[in-house]
Amino acid sequence: MDIPEHDVIVVGAGNAATCAALSARENGASVLMLEISPEHWRGGNSAFTGGAWRIVYRGFDDLARLIPDISEHELANVDVGTYTAEQYYDDMGRLTEYRSDPDLTEILITRSFDAGLWMREQGVRFQLGLGRQAFQVDGKFKFWGGLACHIWGGGKELIKALGARATREGIPVLYDTPAVALLQGDHGVAGVRVRQHGRLVDLRAKAVVLACGGFEANAEMRARYLGPGWDLAKVRGSRFNTGQGLRMALDIGAAPAGHWSGAHACAWDLNAPPVGDLDVGDRFQKHGYPYGIVVNARGQRFLDEGLDFHSYTYAKYGGEILKQPGMFAWQVFDQKAVHLLRDEYRILRTTKEKADTLEALAERLEGVDPKGFLDTVQAFNAAARPDVPFNPNIHDGLRTSGLALDKSNWAQRLDTPPYEAYAVTTGITFTFGGLKITNDAAVEGVTGTPIPGLFAAGEMVGGLFYHNYASGTGLMAGAVFGRLAGRSAAAFVRG
Ligand SMILES: Cc1cc2nc3c(=O)[nH]c(=O)nc-3n(C[C@H](O)[C@H](O)[C@H](O)COP(=O)(O)OP(=O)(O)OC[C@H]3O[C@@H](n4cnc5c(N)ncnc54)[C@H](O)[C@@H]3O)c2cc1C
Repeated sequence: MDIPEHDVIVVGAGNAATCAALSARENGASVLMLEISPEHWRGGNSAFTGGAWRIVYRGFDDLARLIPDISEHELANVDVGTYTAEQYYDDMGRLTEYRSDPDLTEILITRSFDAGLWMREQGVRFQLGLGRQAFQVDGKFKFWGGLACHIWGGGKELIKALGARATREGIPVLYDTPAVALLQGDHGVAGVRVRQHGRLVDLRAKAVVLACGGFEANAEMRARYLGPGWDLAKVRGSRFNTGQGLRMALDIGAAPAGHWSGAHACAWDLNAPPVGDLDVGDRFQKHGYPYGIVVNARGQRFLDEGLDFHSYTYAKYGGEILKQPGMFAWQVFDQKAVHLLRDEYRILRTTKEKADTLEALAERLEGVDPKGFLDTVQAFNAAARPDVPFNPNIHDGLRTSGLALDKSNWAQRLDTPPYEAYAVTTGITFTFGGLKITNDAAVEGVTGTPIPGLFAAGEMVGGLFYHNYASGTGLMAGAVFGRLAGRSAAAFVRG
């Protein structure tokens, strides 16, 4: 096939890539997108998301600009609170142990609201995250964890909306077309070498935006960079993010940045398939552990389930499961907590046990030492303080005291049958290591100067996330830096 030359080639067709393509087009460039997957798998990790969208808002009026179709009923029954830039900075700093790149963090936060409005212009719709980020207490839903706003319909609708917009803008996407190398000319990057129908083809362009994900779906790279055991993790999303884009850039002298031995990983159903299933999306995840306990094969607890809202702990707790014998754990709840569990606990493909007594449950937790489990529950119940009221909407201070590993909040006794337990393992979401970029999303070389004509966005950007992550930031980072990379690439083309 004869493919005409375009100003900008965008590698990938997920959220970051499509935002980059639309932005480059908006700024006058002709754009071609390359996607390794077949069309029915399009959207990368972005398509698997529940659409959590971490955005700065000062109150209801800001959210109403993003969600104009909010109903009177919702209005009367919700307390959206605020999520200010200061709260966002605090979350990024605290969770990354103050390693997050200050410039990139500022760009992410200060441009988040504008990115939301721009996404709306592209056809993306938003909704309140009622089912997942708020509980009803005293008749009102109160949002916690900074995440009142979600993309309507989650990742599938996001990709549908952005894809439709790209089609309207006349941006072609070549599916089944992996980028395998960057072409270089006298003045920098000059295009992309792809494989099409088994043949290597060189596609020329004046600028290239890499937005083709991290190396989470590459077992060899996971073991090499994240460490032993990570090769055995399940992949929550796309099978196609194998680090090829990162390697292509490093091969021509791009500078690595960020936490290359770090990754986002959470509790994921023990019997989930090795890579994501688009029909299930994100629902193999199990984020309800703050309201129960989590035990390993010895029947022992190994993390503080109530350290914080799940939004601030889930992305690092997946890595804790990986360190346990057999790489699995069981989350255990009683009836006081079951009604708080999210939709993901009610899918058919769930590894679940239920019993009327703790003794009977102990026998059913496959792989777990029953006595160890019963000892753990007995000690936990004895350490839980009954004098503080339980409230899932706040850090309620209902904690245990005197355990080797205390639970800091929401520590209700396990005493109300029937008991339910869910088996989980480590599901990797995306890797934190990436490329060093400038404040214009240009990829920097190892010499410290930008590589002319090369830009990056999304998971490929290094320096934002270290150790941990606040839910809903990945899509926002993809939108903010995708938009920026597209604009910068178009400006570069204009000279
Ligand atoms: C199950 C799950 C749930 C999540 N939930 C949320 C959420 O609710 N909110 C949130 O903010 N984040 C969420 N995330 C994280 C979020 O998905 C990512 O941070 C973000 O979508 C990454 O966007 P991206 O465009 O960089 O990558 P992707 O969307 O993965 O896009 C990369 C694209 O590049 C393609 N590609 C790879 N290699 C090549 C190559 N060599 N040539 C051509 N194409 C290539 C891939 O096929 C893919 O289409 C979730 C992730 C998963 C897996």
